[in-house]
Amino acid sequence: MINRINYFVLGKGSNILISDKGMEGLVIHTTRLNRIGHDEHCVSAQCGASLKDLCDYAQKLGLAGLEFASGIPGSVGGAVYMNAGAYGGEIKDVLRYSKYLEPSAQGLRSFASVKHLKAAAHLFGYRSSVFQTSGWIHLSSLFSLTPDDPEAIAERMRELEKQRWSKQPMDLPSGGSVFKRPQGHFTGRLVDDCGLRGFQIGGAAISNKHCGFIVNLGSATAADVLALIEHVQKKVLERFGVLLEPELRLIGRQ
Ligand SMILES: Cc1cc2nc3c(=O)[nH]c(=O)nc-3n(C[C@H](O)[C@H](O)[C@H](O)COP(=O)(O)OP(=O)(O)OC[C@H]3O[C@@H](n4cnc5c(N)ncnc54)[C@H](O)[C@@H]3O)c2cc1C
Repeated sequence: MINRINYFVLGKGSNILISDKGMEGLVIHTTRLNRIGHDEHCVSAQCGASLKDLCDYAQKLGLAGLEFASGIPGSVGGAVYMNAGAYGGEIKDVLRYSKYLEPSAQGLRSFASVKHLKAAAHLFGYRSSVFQTSGWIHLSSLFSLTPDDPEAIAERMRELEKQRWSKQPMDLPSGGSVFKRPQGHFTGRLVDDCGLRGFQIGGAAISNKHCGFIVNLGSATAADVLALIEHVQKKVLERFGVLLEPELRLIGRQ
């Protein structure tokens, strides 16, 4: 709450599903807070900067460590909030500290002091961070990287991009992996083994290319996607006794 108004911080919107009924309150879109800079082996980025821009910036400087993130279509704020990760790397591996705003019962004025958060205080876990429970607004982070040949870094980024395009439905709109990876299992395999590859509700379908993704075939509503999520959860629970937890953030009036 800011002065008793509900608020939601929106990055690139690549990991959220907004209700068809919308949401009440203020949406704070971080897109204009997009500065990126560096100091020796560290790169800093504001919350609204895209991960792609951050990775390209580091690559040109010959600083390695962010290659894993170059194909993730999110903002720096969203990536810290989610502890985004891919191909064996996670934000927590390279983050040194962040700056953030902490809401207060007194409203916007006392909200406005910028605080520092050390790496350990982010309480990073698998696709989780302290930002998910605190209501804090992430402002910027400093990333500690390792000098390397720029062309070698670019080559690794190209290779990961190729892998992503070969395994994920990048040609259709989606919210990325719908569910967190359950311990000891692969979500895509569980969904596939339930016979749900290509299964469709309204305009939403389980991707034929990767069963961990729900794609929009053109006319999907949020209700279609939600119904499909619930259907998959039910089938996987019945067949394997595994409850799939959504990675996608569900926002707005239900
Ligand atoms: C095709 C595709 C592939 C993907 N691949 C991956 C992958 O490989 N690995 C991975 O981890 N994710 C992946 N994702 C998911 C997503 O891109 C990441 O989670 C990303 O980090 C989300 O960033 P965003 O800016 O889009 O966040 P949003 O979707 O805008 O927001 C996500 C959450 O973060 C919060 N948030 C955003 N900015 C801030 C801020 N400044 N302060 C506080 N809270 C904030 C929002 O309130 C929301 O709860 C993929 C998504 C898609 C569509």
